[in-house]
Amino acid sequence: MSHSSSASPRMKPATWYISMLIVAFLYIYLTAIQYIRGEELPVPQTVRQSLHARAVREGFGGSKFLSKQGPINGPTLGFEYHNYDDLTSYLRNVNSMFPNITALYSIGKSSQGRELWVLVVSTSPYKHVLGIPNVKYVANMHGNEAVGREMMLHLIQHLVTQYPRDEYVRWLLENTRIHIMPSMNPDGYEVSKEGTCEGAQGRYNSRGYDLNRNFPDFFKTNNARPQIEMEHVKEWLSKIQFVLSGNFHGGALVASYPFDNSAKSMFQSLSSSESVTPDDDTFKHLATVYSTNHKRMYQGRPCKGQSGFKNGITNGAKWYPLIGGMQDFNYIWHGCMEITLEISCCKFPLAEDLERYWRENKESLLRFLGESHRGVRGFVHDEFGNPIEGVGLKIKDRDVGFKTTRHGEYWRILLPGRYVLEAYHDNYEPKEAEFYVVDDRPTLLNVTLSRNSASPGQYGQHSVPARDVIYLNQPPKGHPPPPEAPASGFFNFNRIMNTFFG
Ligand SMILES: [Zn+2]
Repeated sequence: MSHSSSASPRMKPATWYISMLIVAFLYIYLTAIQYIRGEELPVPQTVRQSLHARAVREGFGGSKFLSKQGPINGPTLGFEYHNYDDLTSYLRNVNSMFPNITALYSIGKSSQGRELWVLVVSTSPYKHVLGIPNVKYVANMHGNEAVGREMMLHLIQHLVTQYPRDEYVRWLLENTRIHIMPSMNPDGYEVSKEGTCEGAQGRYNSRGYDLNRNFPDFFKTNNARPQIEMEHVKEWLSKIQFVLSGNFHGGALVASYPFDNSAKSMFQSLSSSESVTPDDDTFKHLATVYSTNHKRMYQGRPCKGQSGFKNGITNGAKWYPLIGGMQDFNYIWHGCMEITLEISCCKFPLAEDLERYWRENKESLLRFLGESHRGVRGFVHDEFGNPIEGVGLKIKDRDVGFKTTRHGEYWRILLPGRYVLEAYHDNYEPKEAEFYVVDDRPTLLNVTLSRNSASPGQYGQHSVPARDVIYLNQPPKGHPPPPEAPASGFFNFNRIMNTFFG
């Protein structure tokens, strides 16, 4: 017993020593792996975002934020109206709870000093990612048309809370920067009254101007004095190249698309005939996407005292022509495809109806944004691969143009088919490129331009660039085009004259 007991103490130190070596090695190895994982490997954005969302969920999991269905993921948002202060605090709350997928900014103040808030929802809310389209929704430019304003808040709530769970929402946020302005006329809203279905109290801004009659007009002189809210939006559009836009109203149930105005005289306009854009097929499609995803709009049933609309869509001028509308301005000046969405027969219905309006519009609101990924997009570079800003682009036979951003990017929504892209710039040879658009994904088309032989500042043999053509239109007094030339223009003035004025 004593022999064996004397042998084992001699063996133990060696075994212990080796064991410790192995343990120490394992420890160092695991720590190293941990270190590499934690510090060196980039965590995919999606993982980080869902981790973030989970942290938010758990961090705000107190009883106040719990409902019977489980934790509420966003700030409390009931089906009730939000005045300026409530709206402001909701936007601030959602931004602080979801800082990685939202950004809050103001494009300026209303005439009574209220901020014109915009909330961006995107996985890159603060930074423009090359090639990612910017889209927008603007509601409540008529202050007494209140449903759109609340729909914007519910859309925001849906996007931020469904981002970790809903594949479509995640795809939208990862591939689109969505700018949402719940109210373009916060002053008008404050003097509007819930339950008032008709009338104009609160429609106008605090100085009594209709903001949807206040924009520069391509067809007619707009004599309305430019209002600060319109000026802010105008500047906003000149800074960000929006690809697609929806503008929300009430008092009817229809998706209306450009043009809102026509070259015909007021007398002729009484008959309200169509004023067709060269992108009529695309606009009809966009309006149809909204109306058919809506629970009722596509049925085209008339509101009380109105006539119905086939498939719930209409050309703006055919319904009734107007001067200074926002959607025509978006399209003609900036190449942004905007349509006008009239989403409630009653302009300011009781709050108890809001949940129904959300159910009716939810799918439309989501699907419409996805349409920004239809058509063609790409970059225009010089021979050395440098992006070229301000290249005049147009789709052949569609004479409303658009321009490249300062990163040389462009986007254009088009239905499936064969097209030709035309590119013009003072200092480069003009170029045409043929391409096809398919249904399920955007076509990527990059264009390389080579410098022309003409001396700088002189035009080559190609037609006059868009910038100069727009001035031929003799912009109405009091409403000159933006100081920077409009981002888009009419390329072939004679052809446009024939198309629209013929
Ligand atoms: Zn309206």
